[in-house]
Amino acid sequence: MGGGSGLLWIGRALIVFQLINGVLGWGKEGHFAVCKIAEGYLTEDALAAIKELLPDSAEGDLANVCSWPDEIRFHLRWSSPLHYIDTPDFKCNYEYCRDCHDSAGRKDRCVTGAIYNYTMQLKSAYQNSVSEAKYNLTEALMFLSHFIGDVHQPLHVGFTGDLGGNSIIVRWFRRKTNLHHVWDNMIIESALKTFYSSNITNMIQTIQWNITDGWANDISSWESCKNNHTVCPEPYASESISLACKYAYKNATPGSTLKDDYFLSRLPIVEKRLAQGGIRLAATLNRIFASQIKIAEA
Ligand SMILES: [Zn+2]
Repeated sequence: MGGGSGLLWIGRALIVFQLINGVLGWGKEGHFAVCKIAEGYLTEDALAAIKELLPDSAEGDLANVCSWPDEIRFHLRWSSPLHYIDTPDFKCNYEYCRDCHDSAGRKDRCVTGAIYNYTMQLKSAYQNSVSEAKYNLTEALMFLSHFIGDVHQPLHVGFTGDLGGNSIIVRWFRRKTNLHHVWDNMIIESALKTFYSSNITNMIQTIQWNITDGWANDISSWESCKNNHTVCPEPYASESISLACKYAYKNATPGSTLKDDYFLSRLPIVEKRLAQGGIRLAATLNRIFASQIKIAEA
């Protein structure tokens, strides 16, 4: 047993970890993109509050820690069900009361429940300094930023029977994988290679151009929440399951090979979801940290 076998083991463990990790949310690139896009739409107050909460490892950049909940979900087992929602097979709709629970049936343990919870933690701390000690606000910020990304990945609101596409084995071009992983990683990875010189910054820039150009008229409706709520993950989850039925599950039965026609028709959906995730994350953080001003002025 030399150092070599130790390294080999670590290498293998990393590969296994990355494989599992990839199955669990937008991949690293997806979460990075959502948070980078959000950064461009934050108010000064939100930026200041976020800077204070970020851990050192973020190096002052929220996007650097937006995948953190995926990295710790095997240590913090309780957080695993918070990344997704399973809906009834083939219904193509989502209802909080019916669907938001973990596999043991515990209520509110799903991605929309987690978004409400971490928003409440941050908001209550910024409205009432007494409660500040009650929560780890740095973790709350990282969880919230990650989960607003996850709820926009269509297969994070997928059928119970196939675990949001995780049990649907397909080929992505030549590689054997599963449908959930295709939507977390493969579409983005193939897009990076094919269109963006393998550079995520190029992809983010193109999405930003689309936001200011093609989607400019949609931004205010993406940002707004009904009844002046601080956060509103319900429509995001409903959109996701609807897109899952219309695009993700469609023509992707077990054993099928997904190639150019699937890739090129689904990539615009993925890019729009990354854009919506970023815009809505920024709008939510802006509302949470706007309450700070009221206190300062009171
Ligand atoms: Zn996740």
